[in-house]
Amino acid sequence: MQLTVLGKYGPFPKEGGATSSYLLQANGKNILLDLGAGSFARLCRCIKPEDIDVIILSHFHLDHTSDIGVLIYYYQILFAKGHTKKPIVFCPEEGGPLAETVINCPYFNVNLVRGGEISMVDDIDLDFFEMRHPVPCVGVKISCEGKVLAYTGDTNVCDCLEDVFDGSDTVLADGAFLMRDWEISKPHLSVEHIVGFTNKYGNKSIISHINPKYTEEELQKAISGLGDRCLIAQEGKTYKI
Ligand SMILES: [Zn+2]
Ligand SMILES: [Zn+2]
Repeated sequence: MQLTVLGKYGPFPKEGGATSSYLLQANGKNILLDLGAGSFARLCRCIKPEDIDVIILSHFHLDHTSDIGVLIYYYQILFAKGHTKKPIVFCPEEGGPLAETVINCPYFNVNLVRGGEISMVDDIDLDFFEMRHPVPCVGVKISCEGKVLAYTGDTNVCDCLEDVFDGSDTVLADGAFLMRDWEISKPHLSVEHIVGFTNKYGNKSIISHINPKYTEEELQKAISGLGDRCLIAQEGKTYKI
């Protein structure tokens, strides 16, 4: 499997950046994890949008979903020209207007998912987890080619986070805060929490959902000690899983 970071920021990007979105390529399938602001154009550098096989939306906050609207416009034109292949979309159930638009989109095959549910796309296993966030949010473990990539979506500390890290080769994790700004009542993890989980479970982590107020130096300092087992996501970079 390989993972390309299309957008690494949240809740808004730095100048020239994009918010949460990742392209996972596994066993010939193109799997999108979220599609935040500015990510559609980045996706087009990697693949044709008509070649998307699966879209997993962790939740419907706009820093994870705002470019799903322009993707729908793209598909509207594709289908008018005779295209028929629909991406499979996995997302949690939510009643907001964007969720309704996605759930009712005629160009997608939508599957509503909850924590504890599993699904399969060909020989790719998907395990979903209920994360801790102000709106319904699913994390996912994706198993393929003997490797496991986990994506936390947005979350603070919760029991499921242990399950997400346990048994994963690499965890793509929400590192929106440095510990000095983190509180249990807030909606995100800290970078230092991810370092702790990575140490505990002996796997690798890629820290993303970066708050634009932090400098690269501050973030690198927070992960120092784990070497290349813990990385700060870089936009445009492709990681082998
Ligand atoms: Zn977010
Ligand atoms: Zn969120």
